[in-house]
Amino acid sequence: MAELLDSTPEKAMISCEVCLREVPFDQSSVVEVEDYVMYFCGLECYQAWRRAGKVAEVETK
Ligand SMILES: [Zn+2]
Repeated sequence: MAELLDSTPEKAMISCEVCLREVPFDQSSVVEVEDYVMYFCGLECYQAWRRAGKVAEVETK
């Protein structure tokens, strides 16, 4: 097939905040902390990060 669509924005990669693994943006978990945005490869890493207590409580209202 053609290779015309090899750079679509949805294919952007992010690095997980916990395990540093690169995952596709559309498969990542994005968490907003104050005015900072963190990326996780999944809920497992997000919960591990929460348990580590690097940030007190994340409450956005
Ligand atoms: Zn991870």
